[in-house]
Amino acid sequence: MLRIPFCQHAHFYQPPREDPFTGVIPQELGAEPYHNFNEKITAECYRPNAEMGNFERISFNIGPTLALWMEKFAPETLDMIVSADKTRANAVAQVYNHTILPLASAADKEIQIHWGITDFSRRFGRWPQGMWLAETAADIPTLDALAKAGIAYTVLAPWQVAGSAPRNSSGLDTTKPYVVDLPENRSITVFFFDPNFSVALHRTSHLTAKQIAQEIFPMRLDNAWFSPRNGQTLFAAGDGEYFGHHIPGRDALLRDLTLTEGPAAGYDPISLNEWLDRVKPQDAIEIKNFTAWSCEHGLDRWSRDCECARDAFLPAINGNWKGPLRMAMNRLAERIDAVYATQSFRWLRNTHEARLASIGPLRGWLDWDQFFIEQGSDDLLRSPESLRAVIQEKLRRLFQALYYRQLMFTSCGFFFEDLSRIEPVNNIRYAAMAMKSTIGAAPELPSFADAFATDLAECYSVRTGQTGAELFLREWDRAEQLLA
Ligand SMILES: [Zn+2]
Repeated sequence: MLRIPFCQHAHFYQPPREDPFTGVIPQELGAEPYHNFNEKITAECYRPNAEMGNFERISFNIGPTLALWMEKFAPETLDMIVSADKTRANAVAQVYNHTILPLASAADKEIQIHWGITDFSRRFGRWPQGMWLAETAADIPTLDALAKAGIAYTVLAPWQVAGSAPRNSSGLDTTKPYVVDLPENRSITVFFFDPNFSVALHRTSHLTAKQIAQEIFPMRLDNAWFSPRNGQTLFAAGDGEYFGHHIPGRDALLRDLTLTEGPAAGYDPISLNEWLDRVKPQDAIEIKNFTAWSCEHGLDRWSRDCECARDAFLPAINGNWKGPLRMAMNRLAERIDAVYATQSFRWLRNTHEARLASIGPLRGWLDWDQFFIEQGSDDLLRSPESLRAVIQEKLRRLFQALYYRQLMFTSCGFFFEDLSRIEPVNNIRYAAMAMKSTIGAAPELPSFADAFATDLAECYSVRTGQTGAELFLREWDRAEQLLA
């Protein structure tokens, strides 16, 4: 019997849930009997999937902010997930804190990708060939930033393709990878998932593993086009949390599908890295700039009002707050960057390189003293010990500010329907932390809080009637009390 490969890529991710002011996750409503959703989803999804060996038979990425939490609170589960990568190089990296890269500055694209690669390399002990983009949001500068950083492939949705592309009877032929040409002769490989196959694997709670293997799999083969001899592969991708959290029992279904029922029906699981080892992508394809897998309106979901985030039961609530919030964040980011540039250039060899490398000491992988030996300018390294300590402390606070400044763009803060939700509020808290750290580094400079509040006066929560400015000033006061 001719064996047919299939690949299931699961995107495992949670935003940073900690209150940025305390570093502690509050008791989360709806997570009962667990304290918070990370605990709940670990119990329902991450741990059982790891114990069943599912990570060894799928392709997966695990977001750095989730892995960071697991290091502390579910280390055994994280160990099993990391070990699973040894089976078939199953793991794929992810942009660091799930920022929508096409909406980010060129420098931020590079930082998100570099930090994601660094987190991956440290965790898995190897270079990542692939990288998952937050919400698969892409444009040419984003794909080019991946290629420049040494990433070989990413995953996109078929509706992100532009122009005429090779099609089979159900649309884009997703059984093979494509090449996207980039500036200066660079290129990147793109795997496009099969949406119908993905829905079948993730969400058909009425079907058993046997039914999926015996009935759904053959339906996804287009006999006129499909030949496993050419490395063609059935490909599904989606949120990993479906397997046990969104749909109870689906962790066991994934085990049965990949371990017994799939192979019994002639289908063998492979990883994206294994797939790429088997085929050399040849067909060039063009992508539509400013597209993602979870919004039908370009990237509106993360920048302005669009139907995707609307709540059918609360028609008055809209996404008009997203534009002003993003604008306020962008302007704050520019102000913080300017402080960093002016305050650090004398003391660092290369401010951009130092910023990329700062993830090491920020995450505790590298001693700050060692970091400054590597990144410090001659002026810094030749300064008298006492002066050097003062400058290093100032720089350390600036790098802390730059870290929070990244986290304030976490995509979840722009994803949902209302400004008063925990996700946008947490991004605003990260903005507050970034400002606090900047003040700590350069107390002689005027605070950005007033300007930020003025920018946020432009948006408000329909649910609470509160403006962004009121919301921010409430959080700013809270930070003053907690951090005093
Ligand atoms: Zn949309």
